[in-house]
Amino acid sequence: MTSELDISEEEALQAVRNRDAAYDGRFYFAVLTTGIYCRPSCSSRAAKVANLRFFSSVHRVESAGFRACKRCKPDKQAHGSTEENTMVMIARYIEQNSDERITLASLSDRFKLSSAHLQKSFKAVFGLSPREFHHGLRQHHFKALMRKGSSVTDALYSAGYGSSSRVYENADQQLGMTPGSYKVGGAGEAISYACAKTSMGFLMLAATDKGVCFAMFADKKSDLLALLKAEFPDATLSRSSGSAQLDTWFLAIEHYLLAKTKMPDIPLDLRGSAFQLRVWRFLQTIAEGSPVSYRDVAEGIKQPSAIRAAASACAKNRVALLVPCHRVLRADGKLGGYRWGLDVKRELLALEKEYACEL
Ligand SMILES: [Zn+2]
Repeated sequence: MTSELDISEEEALQAVRNRDAAYDGRFYFAVLTTGIYCRPSCSSRAAKVANLRFFSSVHRVESAGFRACKRCKPDKQAHGSTEENTMVMIARYIEQNSDERITLASLSDRFKLSSAHLQKSFKAVFGLSPREFHHGLRQHHFKALMRKGSSVTDALYSAGYGSSSRVYENADQQLGMTPGSYKVGGAGEAISYACAKTSMGFLMLAATDKGVCFAMFADKKSDLLALLKAEFPDATLSRSSGSAQLDTWFLAIEHYLLAKTKMPDIPLDLRGSAFQLRVWRFLQTIAEGSPVSYRDVAEGIKQPSAIRAAASACAKNRVALLVPCHRVLRADGKLGGYRWGLDVKRELLALEKEYACEL
């Protein structure tokens, strides 16, 4: 391992194990098997110790050929003041520990800032207090911000909400529905769909104005429309006639299926229970070519005993590929289940393994 860090490797390893945001910016860790690098606080699944490498800067880790993790975006945030970066770090910490009790005192202790200073600076950067931010996360007020699989912190910060607290006040309007009625296919909701033949059978994509809400495979086109109707019984469905957006997405997916590119970053509109959403978002953090087990998923969402429920949430995924439930295997390495057939799952895993090797 490299020894360019200003802390010992034991300390770095411990920070990674604890997902300790206090070490963010001090070093980065890369995973040999995936070619991805992360901040210490990244909530993605931890890799085997033997596969970890530590680096002191983004420049060094990228020079070594690693790519930035999409979840913790370690390459972002170089801009902005140190003060701002610290506040982003604190927000990330709150986001990753949102199920726990977090007080201003515990934050100020952890990040070595006075409570008053922390409160004021946090509000200046995010437009809301740490407590409001935490509350919003716990109440799922920020769902709409998270549809691309990005973190709430990133969404809030990069959207430049800064000194405005509108995002919090308007969270319900932003969802388009109040959280209580935030369920599949609200009455009259417009969903457009299109279908294309791929190397893995017919694929139907359907989208609301927020993003893709349905992506499924079938041998027959007619089956797909029936599936869409069953999933969104109250929505108004219309066939898309030459939507540039859907065309682009199909093209991106086609490229991906031919192993010419990585999985495209397409906006999603996921609907489900709070638990399902947590599982689906976790699935989006699993790297290509590095499948995990259902147990890993349960642990990843911090409910280690909910293995069956996690498997069931995978099985209820409505967005094939883009919410990559195919990257979850049984603990013994067997394929487990797949909503669109084990042949498709096997093929996708083989494809991604090949792609991951080429990097
Ligand atoms: Zn990461």
